[in-house]
Amino acid sequence: MSVGLRSPDRVLLLGANGQLGTELHAMLEGQCELHAFTRAEADLSRPEDLRRIVADLRPAIILNAAAYTAVDKAESEPELAALINARSPAVLAEEAAKCNALLVHYSTDYVFDGSKPEPWVEDDPTAPLNVYGATKLAGEKAIASIGGSYLIFRTSWVFAPHGKNFLLTILRLARERDGLTIVADQHGAPTSAAEIARGTINVLEKMREGRDDPPSWAGVYHMSCAGETTWYGFAQAIIDEAIPLDLLEGKRAAAVPIPSAQYPTPARRPANSVLSNSKLLRRFGIALPHWRDALHRAISELSSSERVATP
Ligand code: NDP
Repeated sequence: MSVGLRSPDRVLLLGANGQLGTELHAMLEGQCELHAFTRAEADLSRPEDLRRIVADLRPAIILNAAAYTAVDKAESEPELAALINARSPAVLAEEAAKCNALLVHYSTDYVFDGSKPEPWVEDDPTAPLNVYGATKLAGEKAIASIGGSYLIFRTSWVFAPHGKNFLLTILRLARERDGLTIVADQHGAPTSAAEIARGTINVLEKMREGRDDPPSWAGVYHMSCAGETTWYGFAQAIIDEAIPLDLLEGKRAAAVPIPSAQYPTPARRPANSVLSNSKLLRRFGIALPHWRDALHRAISELSSSERVATP
């Protein structure tokens, strides 16, 4: 594929083995001077290490795909979540500004409280319901207050054929159980890590075309797949896609809708966190595909890799 980065661009990728980091790594490898760091090589719980890494490397672009993403666990580890999701992104923004680099950072639909019935736009009031959302919002604010060149993409319900995510959990449970009870009163847009990576690269390409006016593109953008559903709808779609590809080992587990009240979790979650992507479309002419198409692609990829693994 053609990407928006050219070989002389020195790019620092953090969180290289997360869902998004893996996709960015795969798409950018060989397309630019890519320096990809996993948690073991660049730990966001050690912000001062990041300063040294950025200062030594002096990248043109920093892609921060690393984050503390354990939404429920964050309730009992708020300081660590804040260090990784807010303090370190602030340090990255400071160091990016010093070497005139563009910082690309990711945030979440969970910065909103879910009370709006329509899709959320970028400047709607934020009011996170949980520690994870609060720390991600603090990261956004810190980056914006430092200024410089930055892009923050808020996304939602991320899945991939690898890593830890709802898609792989449902496939596992559907093989193990006859019935799955799934929350049906939280609305959002499942978004594949591959589409976020592609969307990011497409934005970088558009920016390269319009380099004459850099300050006009800095800011927060929503970037999620088109359409919307509930966790129940997402689970049902996963099962429907998996059966014809024989990914459920002959099982046909039924998904049963339940209200959130019947599935208590340490972290509260918003009832509606669907994001409007109209700013991304207006500014860059970019729209991500429908979540069902992205799901189909991810499950097909999973199916081919399982066929390769078990000939
Ligand atoms: P993942 O959880 O798949 O990946 C997060 C990555 O961050 C992992 O590689 C993880 O490393 C790494 N990481 C965790 N702690 C540290 C640390 N202290 N230092 C360095 N790296 C660390 O998340 P996604 O790829 O899904 O998330 C990408 C972005 O999208 C994040 O900003 C996230 O907040 C945002 N987002 C994600 C959503 C989701 O549903 N997952 C929803 C909305 C937004 P390791 O593999 O070693 O744990």
